Order: sequence, then C-alpha cells, then structure tokens
Amino acid sequence: MLRRYLEQRRELGESELVLDSLTVDDVMRLLGAVSHPALAMKARPSLRELANAVSSEEVQDWRASLRGAGVNVDAPVSRAKSVAPIPETSAETTNEMPFKKGIVVAPEEAELIPNAIEKLDSLEELARKVKRCTRCSLYETATNPVAGEGNPKAELVCVGEAPGAKEDETGRPFVGQAGQLLTKILAAVKLTREQVFICNVLKHRPPGNRNPRPEEVEACSPYLIRQLELIKPKVIVAFGTFAAQTLLNTKTPIGQLRGLVHKYHGIPLVVTYHPAALLRNPAWKRPTWEDVKLARRVLDSSPGS
Ligand code: SF4
Repeated sequence: MLRRYLEQRRELGESELVLDSLTVDDVMRLLGAVSHPALAMKARPSLRELANAVSSEEVQDWRASLRGAGVNVDAPVSRAKSVAPIPETSAETTNEMPFKKGIVVAPEEAELIPNAIEKLDSLEELARKVKRCTRCSLYETATNPVAGEGNPKAELVCVGEAPGAKEDETGRPFVGQAGQLLTKILAAVKLTREQVFICNVLKHRPPGNRNPRPEEVEACSPYLIRQLELIKPKVIVAFGTFAAQTLLNTKTPIGQLRGLVHKYHGIPLVVTYHPAALLRNPAWKRPTWEDVKLARRVLDSSPGS
C-alpha cells in the first residue's frame, strides 16, 4: 500500500516526500504491516489507519517486508562524506556580532512579505517606503522618488503616468508647465492643488521618459491602490492614455474612454487628456474642460457632498 501510494506521488511529479504527521516509529510499523489481517478487508486504508491498526499488535520485521518487495536491505549503507566542523566563533573574532556573518540575501530594509504595502497606515509611511523601494529597477536610474502630494483626505485624486524630468528633479508630481496647466484645470472646477491629491501610477521616472513596462506597473500598482484606500476619494481623474488604460486595464483609446464614469476598485473614475498633451495640442482643451466638469458633477452628486 505504501509503495503504491509513493508510486502515485511519483507519477504526479513529486520527488520528495515529507511525512510530517507520522513518527519514524509509525513509518517503521507501516513497513512491517503489509500483511496485517486487520487491514485486509479495507480497500483504501489511510497511512494513519495503517499505523494505528498495528500500533498495539505484533508486527513483522520491516526488513522482511522490504526483502519480500525485492529491496536489498542487507547492503551496506553508504554514509555521507564527513563535513568539516563549523569553527566556534566568539565575540572577540567579530567586532559587532557574537556569530559569523553569512550570506546577505536582501538589504536590511527589504520587506520580508512583499504585500506589506497593504498594511501601511499613512501616506507618510507609504512615501517612506517608496523612497527605499526596490520592487522594480526604476529606482536605480531615478534621482528622486515621487510618491505624490496633497490632501490626505482629498475627495478628488489626480493620477498621471509617471514622473517626468522636472518631477524626478524635484520629487514632486505635476510640476513645470504641465503642472501649472493642471493647477488651472483644477481651478476651472473650483479646486486648488491643496484640496486634491496628485500622484502617478509609477513612483520613479522611467529613463528618458520611455513608456512604463508591464512589470514596472505591476510592481508599483500596490502603492497607488494603498494610496486610494487611505485617501478614500469620491472621484479619480486619470490624466492621459497611459494612466487611463493602466487603471482600467484596457487598450481602448482614450477618445473612447472619455466622457464616461468608470470604476477603479469601486471608486468612480473619469478619464481625460494629460496636461502635457494639451500643451502640444490646444484643441484638446475643450474636451478636457468637459471631462473635469464631469468629474466635478460626480463629486457633487456623491453622498456627503
Ligand atoms: S517605480 Fe514603483 S515599484 Fe519601481 S522602484 Fe519605484 S516605487 Fe518601487
């Protein structure tokens, strides 16, 4: 029975066996219990039943069972090569620790459980975590992290793609000409930068402003999700194709995403053009104005407004 069971495990692709609920004595008894009469009537006794059934009975020698199965149990067992003893280390031999240093797998501050982002209690704590984040390689080339800024209780959150050169330099989101235009866009619906929260999908700048890669978005998204969970806004405005398509997990062109109220993790989301795109294409100012008015209407019609 045990052999059949092990063969099944091997056919299923397993190469190791961990008998975590059996003692060595249990297994020894099993090996000697192949012909035990108490189990003869059972079609599929479990390992535990096998062990229990023979625990108080006389069992045959396990070697006899294995010999019967064709195993040469009388051959000398090869011993593992002897391993040099680990030298004892005293506090005198190392300056700071009473034991020898081994392999360092990750920097001290690297998180043991990657999902710890979900447990961050405040936006400040999250910003500190972003500062030392190594979840993707963008931190290596960026000058500063740009976690986001604004009102921690904002009713409206603006989400862009990723920091650009100015943001990377200053560590602040939406600065420079595009940032000034965003301030004007918000003012058009009677909101100040201080009233809202402004951030990006990615918290570090991709080199040369290249498009973010899927693995970077995947690595960084938990920060944005946690920011939104902490802020609990009434509406999100996604600025630009990338932010909109990433948040909505779609390849639909921005022109078709605009003018609708979507949902992101249960929060209403409105899509519009990125202020940097408006600088290049002033014809998009009017549709952008309509989009922010839509966001304002969503805000005003939400409970508690
Ligand atoms: S971009 Fe995001 S995931 Fe990548 S290192 Fe920066 S904070 Fe971490």
